[in-house]
Amino acid sequence: MSREDLETTGQLLGTVLAVQANFYRVQLDSEDKGDKLENSSFSTPSPLSTVSSHSPNPHPPLLLCTRRTRLKKIGQQVMVGDRVVVEEPDWAGGRGAISEVLPRGSELDRPAIANVDRILLVFAVADPPLEPYQLSRFLLKAESTGLDVVLGLNKSDLISTEEQSEICDRLMSWGYKPIFISVNKSINLNQIATSLKEKITVIAGPSGVGKSSLINALIPNANLRVGEISGKLARGRHTTRHVELFELPGGGLLADTPGFNQPDLDVSPEELASLFPEARQRLAVESCRFSDCLHREEPECVVRGDWERYQHYLDFLEEAILRQTQLNQQADPESTVKAKTKGKGQTKYEPKLESKKYRRASRRTQLQELQQLYQETDE
Ligand code: GDP
Ligand code: ZN
Repeated sequence: MSREDLETTGQLLGTVLAVQANFYRVQLDSEDKGDKLENSSFSTPSPLSTVSSHSPNPHPPLLLCTRRTRLKKIGQQVMVGDRVVVEEPDWAGGRGAISEVLPRGSELDRPAIANVDRILLVFAVADPPLEPYQLSRFLLKAESTGLDVVLGLNKSDLISTEEQSEICDRLMSWGYKPIFISVNKSINLNQIATSLKEKITVIAGPSGVGKSSLINALIPNANLRVGEISGKLARGRHTTRHVELFELPGGGLLADTPGFNQPDLDVSPEELASLFPEARQRLAVESCRFSDCLHREEPECVVRGDWERYQHYLDFLEEAILRQTQLNQQADPESTVKAKTKGKGQTKYEPKLESKKYRRASRRTQLQELQQLYQETDE
Protein backbone atom coordinates (compact mmCIF):
# COMPACT_ATOMS: atom_id res chain seq x y z
CA MET A 1 0.00 0.00 0.00
CA SER A 2 1.43 3.40 -0.89
CA ARG A 3 1.68 6.26 1.50
CA GLU A 4 -0.97 8.19 -0.42
CA ASP A 5 -3.40 5.29 -0.21
CA LEU A 6 -2.93 5.09 3.49
CA GLU A 7 -3.39 8.78 3.96
CA THR A 8 -6.61 8.81 2.03
CA THR A 9 -7.93 5.84 3.95
CA GLY A 10 -7.37 7.81 7.12
CA GLN A 11 -4.82 5.51 8.68
CA LEU A 12 -2.28 6.89 11.08
CA LEU A 13 1.20 7.14 9.64
CA GLY A 14 4.35 7.94 11.48
CA THR A 15 8.12 7.63 11.62
CA VAL A 16 10.02 5.50 14.11
CA LEU A 17 12.40 7.79 15.99
CA ALA A 18 13.88 5.28 18.41
CA VAL A 19 13.75 1.61 19.25
CA GLN A 20 14.17 0.44 22.79
CA ALA A 21 13.68 -3.13 23.86
CA ASN A 22 10.33 -4.07 22.34
CA PHE A 23 9.03 -0.54 22.16
CA TYR A 24 9.11 1.88 19.28
CA ARG A 25 8.86 5.62 19.68
CA VAL A 26 6.75 6.77 16.75
CA GLN A 27 6.21 10.33 15.74
CA LEU A 28 2.94 10.63 13.92
CA ASP A 29 2.79 12.84 10.87
CA SER A 30 1.33 16.16 11.83
CA GLU A 31 -1.36 17.62 9.65
CA ASP A 32 0.03 21.12 9.85
CA LYS A 33 3.49 19.94 8.92
CA GLY A 34 3.46 21.95 5.71
CA ASP A 35 2.77 25.21 7.50
CA LYS A 36 5.32 24.40 10.09
CA LEU A 37 8.05 23.83 7.55
CA GLU A 38 7.33 27.04 5.73
CA ASN A 39 7.00 29.23 8.76
CA SER A 40 9.89 28.15 10.84
CA SER A 41 13.43 29.24 10.30
CA PHE A 42 16.61 28.80 12.17
CA SER A 43 16.69 32.40 13.31
CA THR A 44 13.43 31.97 15.18
CA PRO A 45 13.90 28.75 17.09
CA SER A 46 11.61 29.73 19.93
CA PRO A 47 9.55 26.77 21.06
CA LEU A 48 6.50 28.91 20.49
CA SER A 49 7.25 29.17 16.79
CA THR A 50 6.30 25.54 16.28
CA VAL A 51 3.08 26.01 18.22
CA SER A 52 0.40 27.35 15.98
CA SER A 53 -2.31 28.95 18.03
CA HIS A 54 -5.12 27.32 16.06
CA SER A 55 -3.72 23.82 16.37
CA PRO A 56 -5.01 21.52 19.09
CA ASN A 57 -1.81 19.50 18.73
CA PRO A 58 1.06 21.87 19.33
CA HIS A 59 3.63 19.14 18.80
CA PRO A 60 3.22 16.15 16.50
CA PRO A 61 2.05 13.37 18.79
CA LEU A 62 4.57 10.81 19.93
CA LEU A 63 3.32 7.35 20.73
CA LEU A 64 5.15 4.54 22.41
CA CYS A 65 4.24 1.56 20.26
CA THR A 66 4.45 -2.19 20.30
CA ARG A 67 4.73 -4.35 17.22
CA ARG A 68 1.69 -6.34 16.18
CA THR A 69 2.03 -10.09 16.63
CA ARG A 70 1.35 -10.53 12.94
CA LEU A 71 4.52 -8.58 12.12
CA LYS A 72 6.51 -10.72 14.52
CA LYS A 73 5.16 -13.85 12.90
CA ILE A 74 6.23 -12.78 9.43
CA GLY A 75 9.59 -11.69 10.81
CA GLN A 76 9.05 -8.05 9.90
CA GLN A 77 11.61 -6.00 11.78
CA VAL A 78 10.99 -2.39 12.67
CA MET A 79 13.95 -0.01 12.36
CA VAL A 80 14.61 3.58 13.32
CA GLY A 81 13.57 5.65 10.31
CA ASP A 82 10.83 3.24 9.26
CA ARG A 83 7.54 4.64 8.04
CA VAL A 84 4.82 2.75 9.86
CA VAL A 85 1.07 2.43 10.17
CA VAL A 86 -0.15 2.83 13.73
CA GLU A 87 -3.36 1.28 15.02
CA GLU A 88 -5.47 1.69 18.13
CA PRO A 89 -3.91 4.87 19.41
CA ASP A 90 -4.44 5.46 23.10
CA TRP A 91 -4.06 9.22 23.12
CA ALA A 92 -4.32 9.62 26.86
CA GLY A 93 -1.76 6.94 27.58
CA GLY A 94 0.44 7.82 24.61
CA ARG A 95 0.43 4.24 23.33
CA GLY A 96 -0.22 2.50 20.05
CA ALA A 97 0.59 -0.55 17.95
CA ILE A 98 2.52 -0.80 14.70
CA SER A 99 0.53 -2.84 12.21
CA GLU A 100 2.54 -2.30 9.06
CA VAL A 101 5.96 -1.18 7.87
CA LEU A 102 6.08 0.65 4.55
CA PRO A 103 8.73 -0.37 2.02
CA ARG A 104 12.15 1.14 2.78
CA GLY A 105 13.88 3.51 0.43
CA SER A 106 17.27 2.69 1.88
CA GLU A 107 18.73 0.78 4.76
CA LEU A 108 21.93 1.45 6.64
CA ASP A 109 23.42 -1.32 8.67
CA ARG A 110 25.35 0.52 11.29
CA PRO A 111 23.89 2.72 12.54
CA ALA A 112 20.74 0.77 11.76
CA ILE A 113 18.51 3.38 10.15
CA ALA A 114 15.99 3.06 7.36
CA ASN A 115 15.17 5.66 4.74
CA VAL A 116 18.25 7.83 5.17
CA ASP A 117 18.37 10.41 2.40
CA ARG A 118 21.66 12.12 2.89
CA ILE A 119 24.92 12.42 4.73
CA LEU A 120 25.98 15.67 6.31
CA LEU A 121 29.75 15.52 6.25
CA VAL A 122 31.29 17.94 8.71
CA PHE A 123 34.92 18.98 8.65
CA ALA A 124 36.74 21.92 10.22
CA VAL A 125 38.79 24.40 8.20
CA ALA A 126 41.20 24.70 11.13
CA ASP A 127 41.76 23.18 14.56
CA PRO A 128 42.01 20.38 13.51
CA PRO A 129 43.40 21.50 10.12
CA LEU A 130 41.61 20.44 6.97
CA GLU A 131 43.47 17.38 5.78
CA PRO A 132 42.76 16.79 2.06
CA TYR A 133 43.49 13.08 2.12
CA GLN A 134 41.25 12.47 5.13
CA LEU A 135 38.50 14.57 3.55
CA SER A 136 38.86 12.55 0.36
CA ARG A 137 38.45 9.32 2.27
CA PHE A 138 35.26 10.48 3.98
CA LEU A 139 33.90 11.82 0.69
CA LEU A 140 34.57 8.53 -1.08
CA LYS A 141 32.94 6.62 1.71
CA ALA A 142 29.91 8.88 1.55
CA GLU A 143 29.80 8.56 -2.26
CA SER A 144 29.88 4.78 -1.97
CA THR A 145 26.52 4.80 -0.20
CA GLY A 146 24.87 6.52 -3.14
CA LEU A 147 23.21 9.01 -0.78
CA ASP A 148 23.29 12.79 -1.23
CA VAL A 149 26.26 14.46 0.39
CA VAL A 150 26.18 17.88 2.04
CA LEU A 151 29.61 19.18 3.01
CA GLY A 152 29.73 21.62 5.91
CA LEU A 153 33.07 23.23 6.76
CA ASN A 154 32.99 24.41 10.33
CA LYS A 155 35.13 26.86 12.33
CA SER A 156 35.17 29.28 9.41
CA ASP A 157 35.60 31.98 12.04
CA LEU A 158 39.23 30.87 12.33
CA ILE A 159 40.24 31.75 8.76
CA SER A 160 40.00 34.78 6.48
CA THR A 161 37.49 35.14 3.66
CA GLU A 162 40.42 34.90 1.21
CA GLU A 163 41.38 31.55 2.67
CA GLN A 164 37.78 30.46 2.49
CA SER A 165 37.49 31.25 -1.19
CA GLU A 166 40.73 29.37 -1.87
CA ILE A 167 39.33 26.28 -0.15
CA CYS A 168 36.05 26.77 -1.93
CA ASP A 169 37.72 26.92 -5.37
CA ARG A 170 39.73 23.87 -4.55
CA LEU A 171 36.74 21.80 -3.43
CA MET A 172 34.70 22.98 -6.40
CA SER A 173 37.42 21.49 -8.59
CA TRP A 174 36.84 18.24 -6.68
CA GLY A 175 33.16 18.49 -7.54
CA TYR A 176 31.81 19.70 -4.19
CA LYS A 177 30.34 22.97 -3.05
CA PRO A 178 31.09 23.38 0.63
CA ILE A 179 28.96 25.37 3.04
CA PHE A 180 31.22 27.42 5.31
CA ILE A 181 29.78 27.53 8.78
CA SER A 182 30.72 28.56 12.26
CA VAL A 183 28.75 27.07 15.08
CA ASN A 184 30.39 29.42 17.57
CA LYS A 185 29.58 32.54 15.54
CA SER A 186 26.25 31.25 14.22
CA ILE A 187 27.36 31.66 10.63
CA ASN A 188 25.32 29.95 7.88
CA LEU A 189 23.56 27.59 10.26
CA ASN A 190 20.33 28.63 8.60
CA GLN A 191 21.66 27.34 5.30
CA ILE A 192 22.53 24.00 6.86
CA ALA A 193 19.11 23.77 8.50
CA THR A 194 17.46 24.53 5.16
CA SER A 195 19.47 21.84 3.41
CA LEU A 196 18.31 19.27 5.98
CA LYS A 197 14.61 19.96 5.68
CA GLU A 198 12.07 17.18 5.45
CA LYS A 199 14.47 14.32 4.98
CA ILE A 200 16.50 11.97 7.12
CA THR A 201 20.15 12.89 7.50
CA VAL A 202 23.03 11.22 9.27
CA ILE A 203 25.95 13.32 10.36
CA ALA A 204 29.53 12.15 9.80
CA GLY A 205 33.03 13.52 10.15
CA PRO A 206 36.16 13.16 12.23
CA SER A 207 36.11 14.05 15.90
CA GLY A 208 36.84 17.55 17.08
CA VAL A 209 35.33 19.30 14.07
CA GLY A 210 32.23 20.46 15.94
CA LYS A 211 29.58 17.85 15.15
CA SER A 212 28.14 17.81 18.66
CA SER A 213 28.20 21.60 18.78
CA LEU A 214 26.36 21.71 15.46
CA ILE A 215 23.71 19.23 16.56
CA ASN A 216 23.10 21.19 19.72
CA ALA A 217 22.84 24.41 17.75
CA LEU A 218 20.48 22.94 15.16
CA ILE A 219 18.25 21.42 17.81
CA PRO A 220 17.68 24.18 20.35
CA ASN A 221 17.26 23.19 23.98
CA ALA A 222 13.98 25.05 23.84
CA ASN A 223 12.61 22.12 21.89
CA LEU A 224 10.71 20.17 24.54
CA ARG A 225 11.34 16.76 23.02
CA VAL A 226 15.04 17.31 22.78
CA GLY A 227 15.26 18.97 26.14
CA GLU A 228 14.57 15.60 27.69
CA ILE A 229 17.45 13.90 26.02
CA SER A 230 19.95 16.73 25.75
CA GLY A 231 22.22 14.76 28.04
CA LYS A 232 22.48 12.07 25.43
CA LEU A 233 23.11 14.57 22.69
CA ALA A 234 25.93 16.08 24.64
CA ARG A 235 27.38 12.59 24.47
CA GLY A 236 30.48 13.19 26.55
CA ARG A 237 32.69 10.27 27.41
CA HIS A 238 30.24 7.51 26.86
CA THR A 239 29.46 6.70 23.30
CA THR A 240 26.56 4.41 22.73
CA ARG A 241 25.24 2.26 19.94
CA HIS A 242 21.76 3.52 20.62
CA VAL A 243 20.45 5.18 17.49
CA GLU A 244 17.92 7.92 17.63
CA LEU A 245 16.47 10.41 15.20
CA PHE A 246 16.12 13.98 16.38
CA GLU A 247 13.61 16.40 15.02
CA LEU A 248 14.95 19.57 13.48
CA PRO A 249 12.78 22.59 14.27
CA GLY A 250 12.59 23.57 10.60
CA GLY A 251 11.68 20.05 9.53
CA GLY A 252 13.76 16.98 8.88
CA LEU A 253 15.30 14.38 11.12
CA LEU A 254 18.92 14.09 12.13
CA ALA A 255 20.66 11.00 13.43
CA ASP A 256 23.17 11.59 16.11
CA THR A 257 26.06 9.18 15.82
CA PRO A 258 29.04 8.10 17.83
CA GLY A 259 32.54 9.31 17.08
CA PHE A 260 34.37 8.47 13.89
CA ASN A 261 37.69 7.09 12.90
CA GLN A 262 39.21 6.99 9.49
CA PRO A 263 36.64 5.07 7.50
CA ASP A 264 37.82 2.02 5.66
CA LEU A 265 37.12 2.10 1.97
CA ASP A 266 35.34 -1.03 0.94
CA VAL A 267 35.04 -0.70 -2.81
CA SER A 268 36.40 -2.75 -5.68
CA PRO A 269 39.22 -1.33 -7.84
CA GLU A 270 36.81 -1.12 -10.79
CA GLU A 271 34.27 0.87 -8.77
CA LEU A 272 36.67 3.39 -7.33
CA ALA A 273 36.78 5.92 -10.17
CA SER A 274 33.00 6.27 -10.08
CA LEU A 275 33.29 7.69 -6.57
CA PHE A 276 35.33 10.66 -7.82
CA PRO A 277 33.18 13.38 -9.41
CA GLU A 278 36.26 14.48 -11.38
CA ALA A 279 36.59 11.01 -12.94
CA ARG A 280 32.84 10.66 -13.46
CA GLN A 281 32.83 13.93 -15.32
CA ARG A 282 35.62 12.78 -17.65
CA LEU A 283 34.03 9.40 -18.23
CA ALA A 284 30.70 11.03 -19.05
CA VAL A 285 32.29 12.77 -22.03
CA GLU A 286 34.70 10.12 -23.33
CA SER A 287 35.59 6.50 -22.71
CA CYS A 288 38.88 4.87 -22.00
CA ARG A 289 40.21 2.47 -24.61
CA PHE A 290 39.77 -0.51 -22.29
CA SER A 291 36.41 -0.97 -20.66
CA ASP A 292 38.11 -2.38 -17.57
CA CYS A 293 40.67 0.43 -17.44
CA LEU A 294 41.97 1.11 -13.95
CA HIS A 295 43.22 4.51 -15.13
CA ARG A 296 46.87 4.03 -14.36
CA GLU A 297 49.33 3.43 -17.21
CA GLU A 298 46.81 2.18 -19.73
CA PRO A 299 46.99 3.73 -23.21
CA GLU A 300 44.23 6.15 -24.19
CA CYS A 301 42.94 6.55 -20.66
CA VAL A 302 40.68 9.59 -20.30
CA VAL A 303 40.74 9.64 -16.51
CA ARG A 304 44.48 9.92 -15.97
CA GLY A 305 45.43 13.57 -15.85
CA ASP A 306 46.54 16.51 -13.83
CA TRP A 307 43.48 16.87 -11.64
CA GLU A 308 44.35 17.46 -8.01
CA ARG A 309 42.99 14.24 -6.57
CA TYR A 310 44.39 11.95 -9.22
CA GLN A 311 47.14 10.96 -6.79
CA HIS A 312 44.48 10.23 -4.17
CA TYR A 313 42.82 8.01 -6.72
CA LEU A 314 46.03 6.08 -7.29
CA ASP A 315 46.62 5.66 -3.56
CA PHE A 316 43.09 4.47 -2.86
CA LEU A 317 43.32 2.19 -5.88
CA GLU A 318 46.33 0.43 -4.37
CA GLU A 319 44.40 0.00 -1.18
CA ALA A 320 41.41 -1.41 -3.05
CA ILE A 321 43.59 -3.80 -5.05
CA LEU A 322 45.32 -5.05 -1.95
CA ARG A 323 41.99 -5.64 -0.27
CA GLN A 324 40.61 -7.49 -3.26
CA THR A 325 43.67 -9.70 -3.44
CA GLN A 326 43.20 -10.60 0.20
CA LEU A 327 39.53 -11.31 -0.37
CA ASN A 328 40.36 -13.56 -3.28
CA GLN A 329 42.80 -15.47 -1.14
CA GLN A 330 40.25 -15.88 1.60
CA ALA A 331 37.69 -17.06 -0.89
CA ASP A 332 40.19 -19.60 -2.20
CA PRO A 333 42.60 -20.43 0.63
CA GLU A 334 44.21 -23.27 -1.39
CA SER A 335 45.32 -20.83 -4.01
CA THR A 336 48.99 -19.99 -4.09
CA VAL A 337 48.40 -17.13 -6.47
CA LYS A 338 49.34 -13.93 -4.71
CA ALA A 339 48.11 -11.56 -7.34
CA LYS A 340 45.25 -11.91 -9.73
CA THR A 341 45.99 -10.91 -13.25
CA LYS A 342 43.32 -9.78 -15.58
CA GLY A 343 43.31 -10.99 -19.13
CA LYS A 344 42.73 -7.86 -21.14
CA GLY A 345 44.81 -4.81 -21.73
CA GLN A 346 47.52 -3.98 -19.29
CA THR A 347 45.43 -4.09 -16.19
CA LYS A 348 47.06 -6.13 -13.55
CA TYR A 349 46.73 -6.16 -9.80
CA GLU A 350 49.98 -5.47 -8.11
CA PRO A 351 49.56 -5.87 -4.39
CA LYS A 352 52.03 -4.02 -2.27
CA LEU A 353 53.52 -5.63 0.76
CA GLU A 354 52.15 -3.09 3.15
CA SER A 355 51.04 -4.22 6.55
CA LYS A 356 47.66 -2.61 6.60
CA LYS A 357 44.94 -4.13 8.65
CA TYR A 358 41.59 -5.00 7.22
CA ARG A 359 39.04 -5.86 9.75
CA ARG A 360 36.46 -7.45 7.59
CA ALA A 361 36.58 -10.30 5.21
CA SER A 362 33.40 -9.99 3.27
CA ARG A 363 32.22 -7.47 0.76
CA ARG A 364 29.23 -5.49 1.79
CA THR A 365 26.42 -3.92 -0.07
CA GLN A 366 26.81 -0.28 -0.96
CA LEU A 367 24.69 1.18 1.76
CA GLN A 368 26.18 -1.00 4.42
CA GLU A 369 29.51 0.54 3.68
CA LEU A 370 28.48 3.63 5.54
CA GLN A 371 28.71 1.66 8.71
CA GLN A 372 32.42 2.10 8.51
CA LEU A 373 31.88 5.76 9.15
CA TYR A 374 30.45 4.95 12.49
CA GLN A 375 33.19 3.14 14.20
CA GLU A 376 33.08 4.18 17.75
CA THR A 377 36.14 5.84 19.09
CA ASP A 378 37.56 4.83 22.40
CA GLU A 379 37.39 8.10 24.15
P1 GDP B 1 32.88 16.79 17.63
O1 GDP B 1 33.94 15.92 18.20
O2 GDP B 1 32.93 16.79 16.14
O3 GDP B 1 31.52 16.49 18.15
O4 GDP B 1 33.26 18.30 18.04
P2 GDP B 1 32.72 19.19 19.25
O5 GDP B 1 31.35 19.66 18.99
O6 GDP B 1 32.94 18.44 20.53
O7 GDP B 1 33.69 20.43 19.16
C1 GDP B 1 35.09 20.33 19.27
C2 GDP B 1 35.66 21.68 19.67
O8 GDP B 1 35.48 22.62 18.61
C3 GDP B 1 34.97 22.30 20.88
O9 GDP B 1 35.98 22.86 21.71
C4 GDP B 1 34.10 23.38 20.29
O10 GDP B 1 33.90 24.45 21.18
C5 GDP B 1 34.92 23.83 19.10
N1 GDP B 1 34.09 24.43 18.05
C6 GDP B 1 32.88 23.98 17.60
N2 GDP B 1 32.40 24.81 16.66
C7 GDP B 1 33.30 25.81 16.50
C8 GDP B 1 33.36 26.98 15.65
O11 GDP B 1 32.48 27.28 14.86
N3 GDP B 1 34.49 27.75 15.77
C9 GDP B 1 35.49 27.46 16.62
N4 GDP B 1 36.55 28.29 16.67
N5 GDP B 1 35.46 26.38 17.45
C10 GDP B 1 34.38 25.56 17.39
ZN1 ZN C 1 41.16 4.91 -17.90
